[in-house]
Amino acid sequence: MIKKAIQFWLDFLFPKNCLLCQEGNEYLCQKCFRNLKFKDPHCPNCDNNSKIGIFCDKCRDKFELKGVLVAGDFNDKNLATLIKYYKYNFIKELGNYLGLFLVNFLNNNIRTNPIMKNNNSELNLDLDNYLIIPVPLSKKRLRWRGFNQSQILAKKIGGEIGLKISLDLVRVKHRTAQAKLNKKGREENLKNCFKWKGENLKEQKIIIVDDVYTTGSTLNEVAQELKKHQAGEIWGLVLAKG
Ligand SMILES: [Zn+2]
Ligand SMILES: [Zn+2]
Repeated sequence: MIKKAIQFWLDFLFPKNCLLCQEGNEYLCQKCFRNLKFKDPHCPNCDNNSKIGIFCDKCRDKFELKGVLVAGDFNDKNLATLIKYYKYNFIKELGNYLGLFLVNFLNNNIRTNPIMKNNNSELNLDLDNYLIIPVPLSKKRLRWRGFNQSQILAKKIGGEIGLKISLDLVRVKHRTAQAKLNKKGREENLKNCFKWKGENLKEQKIIIVDDVYTTGSTLNEVAQELKKHQAGEIWGLVLAKG
């Protein structure tokens, strides 16, 4: 109640407007939202061309995931700005817009991709068969930010496309923030820090949702844990590659 009253006065004193063009009365106006561009698919590891975002032959063996669906481009300054405001300025409402960006990407670039119409294709990624799992945060990080940015994105996708979500993946350790480490350090920092608390996954196909792809070590570590519990094919889904 008090929180609501404070928010009311904050909105009154500092009216909201588009973070990109400073117009309108929302954090992101329709025009700027429509201007966010989808990225052409590449191998997430080496940036070679690849269909949808599957790992190329050269990189395949290094990852437990089949591929990563990268919706946008970090070189798109507007998208990069929004992600920064979302994660580091704690503007939780941006999760709805960025979640919708992912929904549009899945509907426009994945569902209607001609590859999907070929049932024999190894890339027949029929979204309805997939379970959505957001990358969890440690308790410490959750307290710091006040929300799990990946969970909000996942919930938006689940709600809009009607896919099942599971929150049974937890993070058990918090060490150094990943952003401060190099590739080797990131892998060490992540070892065994995810735990699946749900039932046996019995070949369930999964899409792991995260905000940004950097080296892929977070998604890969999550995939390893899920595979220990008999997960089927696993994909990642992110807003952009950093
Ligand atoms: Zn705008
Ligand atoms: Zn590659």
